[in-house]
Amino acid sequence: MARVINFNPGPAALPLPALELARDELLDYQGSGMSIVEHSHRGPEYEALHAETKGLLTELMGIPDTHQVLFIQGGATMQFAMVPMNLLAGKSADYITTGVWSEGAIKEAKVVGEAREAGTGKVGDKFVRIPKQSELSLDPNAAYVHITTNNTVFGSQYHWLPETGDVPLVADMSSDILWKPMDVSKFGLIYAGAQKNIGISGITVVIIRKDLLERTPKKMPKLLRYPTYAENDSLQNTIPVFPMYMMRNVLRWVKSEGGAEAMETRNRTKGDALYAAVDRNASFYLAPVEKDSRSYMNPVFRLPTEDLEKKFVSEAKKAGMVGLKGHRSAGGIRASIYNAVSPADVAKLVEFMDGFAKANG
Ligand SMILES: *Cc1c(COP(=O)(O)O)cnc(C)c1O
Repeated sequence: MARVINFNPGPAALPLPALELARDELLDYQGSGMSIVEHSHRGPEYEALHAETKGLLTELMGIPDTHQVLFIQGGATMQFAMVPMNLLAGKSADYITTGVWSEGAIKEAKVVGEAREAGTGKVGDKFVRIPKQSELSLDPNAAYVHITTNNTVFGSQYHWLPETGDVPLVADMSSDILWKPMDVSKFGLIYAGAQKNIGISGITVVIIRKDLLERTPKKMPKLLRYPTYAENDSLQNTIPVFPMYMMRNVLRWVKSEGGAEAMETRNRTKGDALYAAVDRNASFYLAPVEKDSRSYMNPVFRLPTEDLEKKFVSEAKKAGMVGLKGHRSAGGIRASIYNAVSPADVAKLVEFMDGFAKANG
């Protein structure tokens, strides 16, 4: 078996122990004579798994009693609609747009009700920064302020949080949830598709401050209402069992590694090493994102020509490293280095980058 080094943006690399456990348990889940995906989602085996997954997430993220964890299908994209449907309550919401996904979020909010751009990270036609607090024009009466904490496509990330007063802060954390310890109490709502940092596609984590559950209009389809999930522990209908199972395996791994603090140490080591390689070869590699807005999850860089970028991707592939081609709207190279990617994997990429710059610069 030859596993490659996987820099895919999402679905993305998983910790090997999480996959190995899935392999070992697949045919006979804990002596039950069947796989977990053949069990009823109302049976004791799944119930225990559900509680363990939720418990691990609560523990690892330090989720306070004021907040509730929900598991919802439809991906982060579904949350672009559910957030305004449940939280607008006839008001307008503020959106800070810092990339492809936050543009998607505000677009969907405008379908549902009123939303305005309260800040942007765009310079020219590219998103290259996170705007400063002083550059935001926040509406004190807004229903909420929406941010995307890590911009998966353009490779920028918040390293501070906007001050929003009494207005709840809503965050799409799809590509950086659990990358480091985070003070959940600062947020009204957090959502994250599992397939980047905590599992596989098929399930989205929503962490909502309980008082916000009262905002949801009564007359709305059941599965689009947050209170439905809150009242039924997300088991009002059949939950995607395998994505929940894989999340449990990934969260067990995070815990065994030392939790969110250990993830931060690991991620800073990787990101710092990668950006150092870009910066010491500055005549060859160009990082378009401003230094204090650089992402530790999706570093993006350009080479002198598109032909060299193609060559970089194909030679890296020959060296056992895949997934490095940038998103079509940002171009260049993107190395997605989520929690599961190891410092040794990134060290290998860094060595390749230095060699490639020397040979082609
Ligand atoms: C990937 C991603 C999305 C879209 O997620 P889906 O689960 O495919 O809907 C939304 N926001 C961010 C920040 C992402 O990285």
